[in-house]
Amino acid sequence: MTIGIFITICYIISSVLFIIGLKRMSSPVSARRANQLSAVGMLIAIVATLLTSGMMEWQWIALGLAVGTALGILAAVKVTMTAMPQMVGLLNGSGGLASFMVGWAAYRYQPGSSLLTTISTYLAILIGGVTFTGSFIAWAKLEEKFVTGKPILFAGQKIVNSLLLGALVAGGIIFCAHPADNYPLFIVIMILSLILGVMAVIPIGGADMPVVISLLNSYSGMAGAATGFVIINSMLIVAGSLVGASGIILTKIMCKAMNRSLANVLFSGFGNVTKKQQTDVKGEAKPISVKDAYYVLEAARSVVFVPGYGMAVAQAQHAVRELGKILENNGAEVRYAIHPVAGRMPGHMNVLLAEADVPYDQLFEMDAINPVIDTIDVAVVIGANDVINPAARHDKSSPIYGMPIINVDKAKTVFVLKRSMRTGFAGVENELFYYDNTRMLFGDAKESIQALVAEFKSA
Ligand code: NDP
Repeated sequence: MTIGIFITICYIISSVLFIIGLKRMSSPVSARRANQLSAVGMLIAIVATLLTSGMMEWQWIALGLAVGTALGILAAVKVTMTAMPQMVGLLNGSGGLASFMVGWAAYRYQPGSSLLTTISTYLAILIGGVTFTGSFIAWAKLEEKFVTGKPILFAGQKIVNSLLLGALVAGGIIFCAHPADNYPLFIVIMILSLILGVMAVIPIGGADMPVVISLLNSYSGMAGAATGFVIINSMLIVAGSLVGASGIILTKIMCKAMNRSLANVLFSGFGNVTKKQQTDVKGEAKPISVKDAYYVLEAARSVVFVPGYGMAVAQAQHAVRELGKILENNGAEVRYAIHPVAGRMPGHMNVLLAEADVPYDQLFEMDAINPVIDTIDVAVVIGANDVINPAARHDKSSPIYGMPIINVDKAKTVFVLKRSMRTGFAGVENELFYYDNTRMLFGDAKESIQALVAEFKSA
């Protein structure tokens, strides 16, 4: 067997592992193994690529591997679960930058290749550049570093962006028609691509950043696939296409969960909430003590937990599971209702509840719990806010109008566990807190749940 055939076989095995990995990612039961399968696929692909003839500069590859591995381990250990979207954003940006650099090097050292290579080089630069700076801005917005998390809007913004895009398309056509000796134009295209990434993401609010990150994830895949055509590497084309397609599917799912089109996410400046919208809610919120909450829960026959971002912040999932078990032993039917965009990344709540060993048959998606929610005695909201805001159903002036929510307000009693009356990520007041059947259990979610557990134990 020649080395070429061996490498091809390795690439086929890697591709199959990637596809099986992606398929199995769709269920929490098989997701962990799916991740491991995909990682093995990636290892095989890297080793096979290193065996490619002409791979002479081992010392540089080893240096890159060492730096990348060290940074990867450091990030994996240091980054908290709540900062995962930012981390994914940075990783996408790195993918975009890699494609950008490879496209640049390919043109610098082999200008004037075939038309296919020239078009692929242009696309690798364009998509890679947009992905790199766009992901950096997405990271900065989520971290609220360097830029505000709010949409940055200015007069004529859409015209400026259209002109930028037009210049990139025109420049691309000229470049592809005359690739030889056109390095200055190539540099202009590179710079404009980087600027477009910034301009495309600054008008989008922090609340929509996870959708943007998912879209940029797709872009990083497309840039990778284009780079695969530039350096004629079939593995890169397959892996890039898989990332490109899965990123776009995830983006679509997230938009559907928020009942918004992708165009609305990208161009509406969502999150630019005015003072008026924030002060519309009237009434008085009714706090409840742990003791009184215990009495209600003790008598409840059916309880649904509705977790949100606050559960992740408080790391309350294990305490919630413990309370769930106690309630079950007390004769209540216990369910956990998960909103598709609760938390800060897709599947955020599923991951946390799976970590706390909540049985999968007790997890209910929004569409499954809503039809029966009026039969529930107590809905316990743990650090969720936007995803249970009834204004989304009826208040046309609300920025979250139209977003499907978990209708906890229709349960007989609602307990909301949070630390204050502060708004959630979308910056919108929540009228649920003032409803007659709502009681606010103020405090850190983990501490409140632990206090409830203690009440049950001491009874
Ligand atoms: P929100 O961001 O709306 O609300 C979280 C609430 O948790 C806050 O109001 C906060 O209130 C409370 N909280 C924070 N820390 C604690 C703590 N230690 N203990 C108790 N409560 C705490 O979260 P949701 O999950 O309801 O909504 C997610 C938001 O993110 C939506 O706007 C969604 O559109 C957006 N988003 C999510 C995506 C995803 O993939 N998951 C994708 C795109 C957007 P307080 O400070 O008073 O404690």
